[in-house]
Amino acid sequence: MDAIWTCRLAIVAAIVGQAAYSQAQNARSDPVRVLVGRLDLDTYKATIEGLTQFGDRREGTARNRAAADWIEAQLKSYGCANIERVKYVYDQPPEPVRPAPATSRGTAIASGEIIRGVGGSRLRGITLLAVPNYDPNAQTDPALRARNAELPAPGLREEVYCTKVGATRPDEMYIVAAHMDGRSFGEAADDDGSGTALVMELARVFSHPDVITERSIRFALWNNEETGLHGSRAYATQRAPLQGKEEPPGSGRYPEPRWIAMIQHDMMLWDHGMPRPDGTVSVEQRPEADINIEFQSTAKFADAAMKLAFLFRDANEKYAMDYPASVGHHMSNTDSSAFLDLVPAISLRENERGMQIGAGWNPHYHQPTDRYTSYSDKDFRLGLNAAQTSLAAIAQLAGASLK
Ligand SMILES: [Zn+2]
Repeated sequence: MDAIWTCRLAIVAAIVGQAAYSQAQNARSDPVRVLVGRLDLDTYKATIEGLTQFGDRREGTARNRAAADWIEAQLKSYGCANIERVKYVYDQPPEPVRPAPATSRGTAIASGEIIRGVGGSRLRGITLLAVPNYDPNAQTDPALRARNAELPAPGLREEVYCTKVGATRPDEMYIVAAHMDGRSFGEAADDDGSGTALVMELARVFSHPDVITERSIRFALWNNEETGLHGSRAYATQRAPLQGKEEPPGSGRYPEPRWIAMIQHDMMLWDHGMPRPDGTVSVEQRPEADINIEFQSTAKFADAAMKLAFLFRDANEKYAMDYPASVGHHMSNTDSSAFLDLVPAISLRENERGMQIGAGWNPHYHQPTDRYTSYSDKDFRLGLNAAQTSLAAIAQLAGASLK
C-alpha cells in the first residue's frame, strides 16, 4: 500500500469515527432518539399477535369485552396512569349475515375520467370493489370460525384509555388513538390490531418511569369504529364539555385536560401497490411503501391539522428507520372524524383511505384473511415506522425529556 492510500484510509477512518461518535453523542443528548430506540419490531408484533387471540374483536360480543380487559391489563403493566373507561349504549341490531362477495376483476378508470372516492378523493388506474365480508362461514379455519361465532347484542359498551400526565401543563393534552374493535370474521390484525398495538407501544414507552412530558398524552382505544365511529363520538360528546376543568379545584388534577390535537392510527401494515387488471395484488410490500398522514381539507381546523400533518412528516424524516411518510388532505372513515371540527385532527394509515384503500389496494381489508399470518416482517416494519413517526412527533409536541 502506498503512502497516499494509507493517508486516505486514515482520513476515511477519522471521518467514520467522528460520525459514529457524534451519532452516539446525539443519541445521548436527544431524548426523542432515545425514546424511539425503545420501540422494536418483535414487541410490536407480539402486541398485535396478543390482540388476535380475541378473533375479530367485534363490538358487542364477549370476545370484544375480553380484548378490552386484556388491553387494560397491558396498559396497567406498562405503568400507564389513570386507566379509565368511557361507557355508552349502542342499541342498533347487527348487520345481517350475507353471502361472501364474489372476487372481482379490476376496473380500469379511463384517461381523464373523474371517479370520486370517500373524503373528497379521486380514484385512479385499476380499482377493485372494497366490500366487507358479512359471512361467518367464509372463515376457512374452523377454530377461528368458532371463536368469532357470537353475534353482537345491543346494549352497554365500554372503551379504555390511560393518560401520561404532564409535569408542567397537566391541563393540556394530545389524544393518541386507534380502534380496538374489528369485523368480518378474521383476526382484525391490520384493521386495527396494527393501530391498537402502535398506541399501546407508545403508552409503554411514555409510561417508563424515567420519562417526563410537559403536557399530558392520552392513549385511547376506541370501540365501535366499525359500526360508524360510535365509540369515539361517545367520548367526544361526553368529555368535550369537561375540558380544562380542575377537579377538585386547587388539586392540580384535570380529569379531561384541554385537547390540543387528536391523532388516529388505522391500518398500518399493507402497502403493496395498485391491483392488477386481473384483480390480484402483489404479495410483497412494495419498496416504495409509505405511511399516509391525512387531514381533511373541509374540517374546521384544516389549516392547523395540515401543519400538524407536516410536523409528523418531518418527524418521520428525522427518526423513522425505513419507510417515508406523505401527506394528503382527504382524511375519512376513521375516528379522527369525530374530532375534526373540535380540534386539529389527523390520521396515519398504510395507504390513503379514499384513493387507495377505497380502491381495493388491500385484499385483506374487512376480510376473513385479515390474520396475523397474512403479513410479513416487511409489512410489520411499516407499522413500526409509523410508531417511530408518531412517537417522535408526540415526544416533541408534548415536551418529552429523560430524568
Ligand atoms: Zn379500521
